[in-house]
Amino acid sequence: MSGTIVWSIDPPTVTAGQTAKACARSIGDPAIKQALRDALPHLIEHSTAFQASAAADRLHELTSEAYRVPGVTDAEMRGIYTRNLVRVSSPGRKIYEKLVRGLCAYCQHAPATTLDHFIPKAEIGGLSIEPWNLVPCCPACNHILRDEWSCEASEQMLHPYFIGDVGRWLYAKVLHEEPPAVTFTADPGPSVDPELASRIRRQFTHLKLSKMFSEICAPDLSMLEVQLTARRFQNRADIAGYLNEVAEAAFAVNGNARRGVLHDALASDDWYVGRFVA
Ligand SMILES: [Zn+2]
Repeated sequence: MSGTIVWSIDPPTVTAGQTAKACARSIGDPAIKQALRDALPHLIEHSTAFQASAAADRLHELTSEAYRVPGVTDAEMRGIYTRNLVRVSSPGRKIYEKLVRGLCAYCQHAPATTLDHFIPKAEIGGLSIEPWNLVPCCPACNHILRDEWSCEASEQMLHPYFIGDVGRWLYAKVLHEEPPAVTFTADPGPSVDPELASRIRRQFTHLKLSKMFSEICAPDLSMLEVQLTARRFQNRADIAGYLNEVAEAAFAVNGNARRGVLHDALASDDWYVGRFVA
């Protein structure tokens, strides 16, 4: 069960060495091609150092100097990402497609169709093609994140490959209006370190997930309206029991499943449940 924000995802299945080798194959400039090949041991070393920093939540301390690739400028590294990893006809594209997979790591709603540089390539060019710095992302989240970077730990996004379990943090509240609606909040429990909790709330707000989740749930609420009315429940307990059953099944898969959070909030709202007593 995952209780993470914004939901941890499986780590990359390709290495820094494989990525650089694949990119090098389609580099036109022989000097840059050779320099990237010669730099392989450095890229592998950088990858290990990056992972260690990410695991220790210290990515905000990294500098572009420390990750400079010998013989290849930062601007050239950014060009290699675009021309030799992303470009459809390049041999690197197979690697790109292995990295772009599943749902967006940040919203867990839209399919990932792009890669987000966790540390922007404008910030540290040497990490432009580092697989652990490339996070599967939907266009909407990628647009929000753009070239943002902060050297303050408190303002850092949480890296989806490294974030640990923080238990239940996603909650919903029913708005007593017709038709009913819900709002979502990020509210980590008291056992979560206050600074981490504040970053979780910040990230949730920054990615505008509350609005996104409310909109996604609107069709579910409409469907429930029809379904719960048709079932002609005789008492509140049966209605709450039904909603809780759905919530439990969703939570068994993911401790912060949006569907689970929605049904849990509906089940414990007397106003909502009362509307369906026949
Ligand atoms: Zn997204």
